[in-house]
Amino acid sequence: MPRENNLYSGTNDDLLRILHHNMNLMFVIRRREGQFYCSFLSGKLKEQLELPEIMTATGQEFTLEFISVQKSKLTQAFTGKEITFRHHFHNHYLYTMLSPVTKDGEVIEVVGTTIDITSFEKSEQQIEFMATHDILTKLPNRQKLLDDLDRNIHNNYNEKPKAIMICDLDRLKNVNDTLGQFAGDQVITLIADRLKEAVSERCPVYRLGGDEFVIVIDQEVPDIKAFAEQILQVVRQPIIISKHDFYMTATIGVCCVNEKACKTEDYINRASVAVHYGKVQGGNRISEYTNKMSEQYNELILLESDIRKAFKFNEFTLSYQPKVDVHTNEIVGVEALIRWEHGKKGKIPPSLFIPIAEEIGMIDQIGEWVLREACKQFVRWHESGANPVMVAVNISAVELQNPDFLSRVKQVIKETGMDPNYLEIEITENSVMQNTEECIEMMNELRSMGVSLSIDDFGTGYSSMGYLQKFPINYLKIDQSFIKELFEESGSAEIIKAMIQLGHTFGLKVVAEGVEGERILSFIRNEKCDYYQGYFYSKPLEADLIEEKLLAFS
Ligand code: C2E
Ligand code: MG
Ligand code: MG
Repeated sequence: MPRENNLYSGTNDDLLRILHHNMNLMFVIRRREGQFYCSFLSGKLKEQLELPEIMTATGQEFTLEFISVQKSKLTQAFTGKEITFRHHFHNHYLYTMLSPVTKDGEVIEVVGTTIDITSFEKSEQQIEFMATHDILTKLPNRQKLLDDLDRNIHNNYNEKPKAIMICDLDRLKNVNDTLGQFAGDQVITLIADRLKEAVSERCPVYRLGGDEFVIVIDQEVPDIKAFAEQILQVVRQPIIISKHDFYMTATIGVCCVNEKACKTEDYINRASVAVHYGKVQGGNRISEYTNKMSEQYNELILLESDIRKAFKFNEFTLSYQPKVDVHTNEIVGVEALIRWEHGKKGKIPPSLFIPIAEEIGMIDQIGEWVLREACKQFVRWHESGANPVMVAVNISAVELQNPDFLSRVKQVIKETGMDPNYLEIEITENSVMQNTEECIEMMNELRSMGVSLSIDDFGTGYSSMGYLQKFPINYLKIDQSFIKELFEESGSAEIIKAMIQLGHTFGLKVVAEGVEGERILSFIRNEKCDYYQGYFYSKPLEADLIEEKLLAFS
């Protein structure tokens, strides 16, 4: 060390004190007969690493435990090279620099400096974790999924993934809109935990983003569909968040990994296409990817944009199907059913486009149009001298969960001069299951305005019937699938009888849907069903034809 550059002018003791108080670790290693020993060891890090004192005066042998695994590094340093390396000791991450001291061309000792890089290392690990994991759920993220799949699909071992599943929550947006973003986050975290618990021991779970999770089936699963069904069941368990209890459903898209040529992203895209298909069929189902889906996908996307145009250019109309008293055969009401005559594709059934409209966020506008049109029609019929009958409007689950729904109904009633005592709102059994306390309050409010409520497609839901007690409903509409099977499937008759009785037990009027023949009508008449709808009496008709029928009764 050139003396003129060194301002230090203290004694040897001063120098030792300075080294002792240095935050790092400093040491000197010498070599005798092929053995390394430490001749000097100082610095505050020494205590933190719990290294023993050494007697520098005697140069006592020291095992260099903290560096011993790195003996090869010492050997290298003794060849005259400066060496740096990272190592781990007693829960500390360390960075050591070895600097050889030479005299007459020979290395006589190596001076070492070690610094503690634990906090740096931990933040590096955290950065790495954050880059590959989702912060909310702590699940591995999209990037990690792509990396893992790339590695596993294109490897040469046998352990390739068998299938990729995307599990996409249905209508999470409504939770965000009604209960707030924080509740939405809680739902995602809760579902993530459920999925992890249900499958992660067998298969890894990732969060793709938003409300989408990916499960990679990387081992033999005897029945993938049954496995996916188990996952749906797990999602459907009741959720309680800030005293609100409700249910979520999900749509699962499955894509089997079988073609070698397919790119990793393609598998994910295919599973996404399958999810999209499942969603437009109403969600809450498993949809397995087929090549046909890809072919039809563009068609589907076109339909989405056609729905927007159809709304803009007033292509929707309403038909009305009479609801008839089983005993007197009098029309007691009509149900408004939306119709769409597509310019090129002809009639498109509501069962096809309503779920798409829900998916693309058009249902609120379409639903409001249906409500307004049906109310206006009621007033027109009334003005033409017909006796008033109930007018029923179908409301999708998505509309019902919108906090503005109630004020919209009030507004339409006011605007059109509709008598709310003649307005009936039909909601499907599955949609009531997804609803929260706010929804019950809203239903109560509708009832207090005079509006009636029906459960549509009764019997097709997947859950308990506890809501019959909880919800302020007036009518149960037995789904037409049961009515159709009445004389075909054994047991159907008993089911229908039980449904009618159940409705009556709760003080509800029961409506049979899809009555197509006299035999069915007499059966339900015997069972004291109250009303029916179906082709036997009338198909859905245009407003003018309904008016003729209503005037005939007036
Ligand atoms: P839904 O509310 O259960 O309506 C009854 C469906 O059964 C109607 O089909 C009706 O035409 C049909 N139908 C009635 N009687 C018979 C029969 O005797 N035999 C047979 N085979 N079918 C019969 P549509 O109009 O195709 O509607 C299908 C579903 O689309 C409706 O089921 C409803 O869930 C939904 N929908 C219709 N209009 C609207 C609407 O304005 N808004 C919403 N959100 N959904 C709607
Ligand atoms: Mg209906
Ligand atoms: Mg129905």
